[in-house]
Amino acid sequence: MCRHLGYIGPTRSVREVITAGEFSLLRQSWSPRDMRGGGTINADGFGAAWWGSTLSRYRSAMPIWSDPAMPEMLSRVRSHAVLAAVRSATVGMPVERSACAPFTSGHWAFSHNGRIANWPESMVGPAAALPTVDLLGLEAPTDSALLWLLMRHALRENSPEVALIQITNAVAAAAPESRLNMLLGDGKQLWATTWDHSLSALVDDDRAVLSSEPFDRNRDWKEVPDGHIVTARPGHLIITPL
Ligand code: GLN
Repeated sequence: MCRHLGYIGPTRSVREVITAGEFSLLRQSWSPRDMRGGGTINADGFGAAWWGSTLSRYRSAMPIWSDPAMPEMLSRVRSHAVLAAVRSATVGMPVERSACAPFTSGHWAFSHNGRIANWPESMVGPAAALPTVDLLGLEAPTDSALLWLLMRHALRENSPEVALIQITNAVAAAAPESRLNMLLGDGKQLWATTWDHSLSALVDDDRAVLSSEPFDRNRDWKEVPDGHIVTARPGHLIITPL
């Protein structure tokens, strides 16, 4: 399973956000602590999106520890809001840049930690509800890229909470053994689901962090129970059953 991280708080370089803490997202790429049987390391690329006057993004199919963009570029880009992910490709899915989260559109950035069971047959029904032009624009032949299309479509008419609940229900019904841990951000707020994997939240008046694993030993991390949806921004954390 991939590992992902959403951050809203004091302005930092993107690299600082990714390397923050003893168990940073960077370290989770080669030494994650809680993979729950979903792979061993997260070496199949990474990506980061950050908000400024517009949403920007960098993705790479290289392991995050060997991509020179980390020291040479992401250490210089600064933002108050970052969404980043390291990838462990599901068996059978391509290892390429376009398959790496975050997926973005407008001010939205999205990541999926997990897999859709019986891919791609299980998704024939849910995919049929999408406009053909969306399907033709599928960024990569992966479950996560399709999940992003479903999400983006749902966001056109729904709040992030409603969209996440709709997508989780629809995909879980069509592919019951799926793992659907999604993370969404718009630069001001973060939303996430837990559906068969870990997520922790660290929120105080200055910052909101959602992370697959706590990245330090701070005792204020809250473990999000399975089957929940989270809304977080500085000073605000709501965790409710899906
Ligand atoms: N199934 C997705 C992919 O292959 C996500 C993988 C994961 O969470 N490890 O890209």
